[in-house]
Amino acid sequence: MKIFDMHADMGTNFYERKLAGEKEIFKKYNKENLLKGDVKGIFTACFFEGKEDWSYMQEMIKYCNEEILSNNDTLRQIKSKEDLIGDDKTLALISVEGMCGIKEDVENKIAWMYENGVRVASLVWNESNALANGWKQDPLRGLSEDGFKVVKKMNELGMIIDVSHINEKGFWDVISTSSKPIIATHSNARRLCNHDRNLTDQQIKAIADKGGIIGLNACGDFVNEDRNKQSAFELAKHGKYIADLVGIEHVACGFDYMDFLIGDYDDDMCYDMKNASYSQNLIEGFKELGFNDEDIRKITFDNVYNFLMKELLL
Ligand SMILES: [Zn+2]
Repeated sequence: MKIFDMHADMGTNFYERKLAGEKEIFKKYNKENLLKGDVKGIFTACFFEGKEDWSYMQEMIKYCNEEILSNNDTLRQIKSKEDLIGDDKTLALISVEGMCGIKEDVENKIAWMYENGVRVASLVWNESNALANGWKQDPLRGLSEDGFKVVKKMNELGMIIDVSHINEKGFWDVISTSSKPIIATHSNARRLCNHDRNLTDQQIKAIADKGGIIGLNACGDFVNEDRNKQSAFELAKHGKYIADLVGIEHVACGFDYMDFLIGDYDDDMCYDMKNASYSQNLIEGFKELGFNDEDIRKITFDNVYNFLMKELLL
């Protein structure tokens, strides 16, 4: 069954490996696993941890566009509703995780990102930056004045706001400011796994109330505190929990696979969700929980597809 994965740091991988002199990066590190796992939609995240400046952000975003274009036999970039039509290719949408490089002239920089294909972005990763604060920072410090400007500019352009990683106060600032639905691309339910990266019931309800979606994250520590229970089946339970709380139409996938990145992240993932080729294990998990095919398909693909169809312009 086909899957839409709302978070993989592929943009970062493309650029870092390009800087290291590698070529054909998508073909070498992603293509086979995506096809094997029937992942037919992906957000290719350009991830910034807090130190990168604006020109580094621009170079990575530009290169992500190039890498997608040079694989257009397999991938089709999603910038508008129109691009979603037809299932001959894997859909690729460029997202940005953290905007640490944006320190001034914020509206023009957001407009540049939009012009360069970015359709989903989060204000911050784990750090504090000029716009917002990540979950590791003071939970009471919300968005800066420029952070509020960014939310409004993203709304105006139809760029979707991602709240995974932001701290509590920032989350509620985004909720109260955004005129459009917001998403958490890769976060689970804190009630089932008590990690600050996961969403409280109140946050899940607030995202759902605005018409947003939440992507199930296959990183072990966000799935279960017990290492032996870091599995696709336990991840499916997060999906069931969120569906029971706010409705199945708000549940999606955002696995956060890291197998392709420079470095060894093998142990960070659920033991049966190590890379995109394992993705069908989540479907088995939902079947075990008694979900029918139609409902599983909503979670694994249709909810993201329908959300983009509604929220993207043109
Ligand atoms: Zn992340």
